[in-house]
Amino acid sequence: MKIIMLGAPGAGKGTQAKRIAEKYSIPHISTGDIFRANIKNGTELGKKAKTFMDQGLLVPDELVVDLVVDRVGQDDAKNGYVLDGFPRTIPQAEALDNALAAINEKVDYAINVDVPDENIINRMSGRRACVSCGGTYHIVYAPTKTEGVCDACGGELVLRDDDKPETVKKRLGVYHEQTQPLIDYYNKKKILVDIDGTQDMSQVFDAIVKVLGE
Ligand SMILES: [Zn+2]
Repeated sequence: MKIIMLGAPGAGKGTQAKRIAEKYSIPHISTGDIFRANIKNGTELGKKAKTFMDQGLLVPDELVVDLVVDRVGQDDAKNGYVLDGFPRTIPQAEALDNALAAINEKVDYAINVDVPDENIINRMSGRRACVSCGGTYHIVYAPTKTEGVCDACGGELVLRDDDKPETVKKRLGVYHEQTQPLIDYYNKKKILVDIDGTQDMSQVFDAIVKVLGE
């Protein structure tokens, strides 16, 4: 069961990826985790990646693909995996397909957690973070006992710049430009699964399980 997660930032795909990994006992693989592990262990690929990151440069596609292919080739990924945050672009998707084809493998499902931009903007603008302890809340989904005051430490709650509508809109713009074409790409390969991500988290998960099987 080799799965790719697609969905806009804030659509909740990370949460779903974790639940899929748990239910089907397969690893949840994010590129951030792969980078950190390789750099920590001082692997050749990790050293290469670090030279780019130290200069504040993006790690090139080829190297990212090498890192991902290396990771999915490890023992714990024998029965499959959930890739979260990769691929982000068509060149990355093609490079992944080619690398997998070379070892007689392929992606089985590309799960698209579909949430309209307006919903994402609304969700994010309801987030609150504590300026003192960093605790996070949501005015609708995870409210504090007293409005504007952190439950844990009594600190002041603010809307972070990252969660402000104008920032979220910018990120969504980048997403649509870069990642939306992946939806067409996997649709053509007939492995795209569209899931209505506006439902609550457990309903979204149930819809995914319906497709993947119990
Ligand atoms: Zn706090």
